[in-house]
Amino acid sequence: MKFQVPRGTFDVMPEKSAAWQALEAKARALSTGYGYAEIRTPIFEATELFLRGVGETTDIVSKEMYTFADRKGRSLTLRPEGTAGVMRALIEHGVAQAGRVHRLWYLGPMFRYDRPQAGRYRQFHQWGAECVGSDQPAADVEIILLLVDLLAGLGLGDLVVQLNSVGHPGCRPAYQEKLRDYLRPHLDTMCADCRARFEKNPLRVLDCKVPPDVAIAAGIPSILDSLCDACRTHFDLVQKGLAEQGVRFALDPKLVRGLDYYTRTAFEVHDPARGAQSALGGGGRYDGLIAELGGPGVPGVGFSAGLERILLALEERGLAPGAEGPKLYLARAGGEGVERAAQALLRELRARYSAVADLEPGRSLGAQFKQADRIGAVAAVILGEDELAQGQATVKDLRAGTQEKVARAELAAHLDRLLESLPRPENAR
Ligand code: AMP
Repeated sequence: MKFQVPRGTFDVMPEKSAAWQALEAKARALSTGYGYAEIRTPIFEATELFLRGVGETTDIVSKEMYTFADRKGRSLTLRPEGTAGVMRALIEHGVAQAGRVHRLWYLGPMFRYDRPQAGRYRQFHQWGAECVGSDQPAADVEIILLLVDLLAGLGLGDLVVQLNSVGHPGCRPAYQEKLRDYLRPHLDTMCADCRARFEKNPLRVLDCKVPPDVAIAAGIPSILDSLCDACRTHFDLVQKGLAEQGVRFALDPKLVRGLDYYTRTAFEVHDPARGAQSALGGGGRYDGLIAELGGPGVPGVGFSAGLERILLALEERGLAPGAEGPKLYLARAGGEGVERAAQALLRELRARYSAVADLEPGRSLGAQFKQADRIGAVAAVILGEDELAQGQATVKDLRAGTQEKVARAELAAHLDRLLESLPRPENAR
C-alpha cells in the first residue's frame, strides 16, 4: 500500500520551508510593527460558531466545511477561516468591550472542502489581522495598509486593492430589493444555487462563478448608489485615507466577499498576473459579528491573506528565497582526543552558526570535504592532532579554496568575518 497526502493538501519539503519561514517571519515582524499582538485559537470549533459567524448561505458553510461529530456526539468543524474563532475568544475572555481597541493577528491552517487546483487547497494557511473595537475609518485604512505593506515589502508592489462598501443592515435591504428587481427577469436562466440565493441573500449571486450568472451579474445596479449617508461618509473617508497613503485602489461595486458578516468596507488584493485564484488576501468591516456571536455590540475590521498564494506570486516573480543548508562543516582527523574536542567544538559552533559534521568517526578528510561540498557549506573548520596541540583550528574557505590556521580564541571573529563577506542570495532582502 502506498500512502499519499490527502487530496487538496501538500507537504512543505525542506527545499521550500525557507520560503515559508521567511514569509511567516515577515508577517510576524510587520504585525508587531503595527502594534498587533498574536492570538492563537483552536483549529476546530463548535460547528454552530461558523453557521452563525460566517453565515449559512455562504458557500463556505453550505458546501465546504469539514464537520464531524466527536466521541460525545458534539458537532465540531475544522476552522474554514480565522475571524469567527478570534471573536469567540474575545467574547469568551470578556475583553470585547465597547471603547476598548484590540489589535490582533493570527497565522495558521484553515480547511475548506473545495475542488483543489493551483492556488486552491483543502488545507491552506492564512495570515490575518483584526482591529476590534473601533468604527473609525482609520481602522479600515490601518488594516488595509498592513496587508498592502506586507505585499509591497515582499516585492509585490504592483498589486491593486479592489474596494467596495456593502452598506450596513440599515441600508442594505433597500439594495437587496433593487437587486431582486434586476435579477427577477433572469431567474429562469440562473443556476439552481443562485435561484435559492435570490430569496435568501441575493448579494451572493454576485459571487457566482457560473458563466450565465457572471454575465447577468455584470449588469447589476451598483450597491454604492444605495448607501445611506453614514455608510457613504465612512466609505469616502476610507478612500481618502488610502489615497493619502499612496495606496492604489479601484472601486468594485460587485465585490461582496464570500462571508456574510461584512458591513461597510470590503476589499481584496488580486495578483494581475494570475487568472483564477488571483485573490491574495481580502477582508472588511464586520460591525455586527460580535453581537451576532452573543457578545456586545463592538465593531471590528480585519483581513486574511493566503500564504500559498503569496508564495506562488513570489515564485512566479523569482522572489521566493531558496533553501539554505548549514554554512559550516566540521572536519576532523585524529585520535580519540581530537574526536572528543571535535564534538565539543561542533556544539560551540552550533550555538552561533549552523554547522554539521560526519556522524561516522574516522572517515578520510577527502570524504568529509566531499560531504561539505554536497551540503553547500561555505567553510570547513578542520581539527587535527596539530591544531589540537596548538590550540588552533584550520578554517578552509570552500568557495575560494584557501585555508589558514586560526587560534581558537580568534575562531569566532574569523568565522564571523568570513560568513559576513558572503554574497547575499540574490533575492534575500
Ligand atoms: P477568504 O477568507 O475566502 O476571503 O480568503 C482569504 C484568502 O485566503 C484568499 O484571498 C486566498 O488568498 C486564501 N484562500 C482562501 N481559500 C483558499 C483555498 N482553498 N486555498 C488556498 N488559499 C485560499
